[in-house]
Amino acid sequence: MEINHLLKKGVEMIKDREYGNPVLEAALLLGKLLNVDRTYIYTHGDTEVSQPIVDKFLELMEKRRLGYPFQYILKEKEFMGLEFYVDEGVLIPRSDTETMVEYILKYIDEKYKDEPINFLDLGIGSGAIILSIAYYKKNVNAYGVDFYDPPLKIANINKERFKLSNVSLYKGDLFQGIEGLGLEGKFHIIASNPPYIPNEEIKTLQTEVKDYEPMSALDGGEDGLRFYKKIIPESKKYLKDGGLLIFEIGYDQGKKVEDILLKEGYKDTRILKDLHGLDRVVMGVVG
Ligand code: GLN
Repeated sequence: MEINHLLKKGVEMIKDREYGNPVLEAALLLGKLLNVDRTYIYTHGDTEVSQPIVDKFLELMEKRRLGYPFQYILKEKEFMGLEFYVDEGVLIPRSDTETMVEYILKYIDEKYKDEPINFLDLGIGSGAIILSIAYYKKNVNAYGVDFYDPPLKIANINKERFKLSNVSLYKGDLFQGIEGLGLEGKFHIIASNPPYIPNEEIKTLQTEVKDYEPMSALDGGEDGLRFYKKIIPESKKYLKDGGLLIFEIGYDQGKKVEDILLKEGYKDTRILKDLHGLDRVVMGVVG
């Protein structure tokens, strides 16, 4: 079958998915299977595709048709200009999360410049946050913790992919993961994008998310605030005086998380909006 024909067939299969980009997805997938870029696919419409590749392409498009996330098929997602390896078991990095990462990079530049600093990420998933910060700021000594094996495996693959030597990853339940390392009072910045979807809202999420992405990375308990309530008090022990605690939050959680920060004695609290104009980041300073 020729590229054009196959591409059309693929687009036809997935065109009714509500959250997707059929032409782009079909072209990217075929490009990946043929080991060529997307431009090649668009400009070589009459090139013949071998039967095994036709079969593989149609099999994966069928998976996509049923709602399987495209990024798990491609096994890749771009975040902060880096191509992260992703697979089942980790949340696919969201562009919304770049709001927090960009803020942290700017904050490091302004406050610490090239000074060596310690950074902690709680709940690393694919490593999108911790690895992009470690990639762009070589003066950062980055520690990351996750409770589950798939994120640790995948984040380590990404750590290798980006050749980062300033990152250490640990398994554990939040701060338990770095217990005994003598890091109390040592962090300049602690960041987390914890699970924050309230129980009841999970069933309203799109198929791609609720049926295929890890529930453990989404479920924030009854009010969605479970992890903030644990991390905020415990962080005081691990932050330096003047250290920053910064979170990604759900669009309606800014005020609620800010209140917890204030109640626990954090100062200079701020809420940042994402590119859609929704509250997405909240932070406070200890000391
Ligand atoms: N932003 C993600 C979503 O809407 C949720 C991420 C999280 O719970 N940390 O699917």
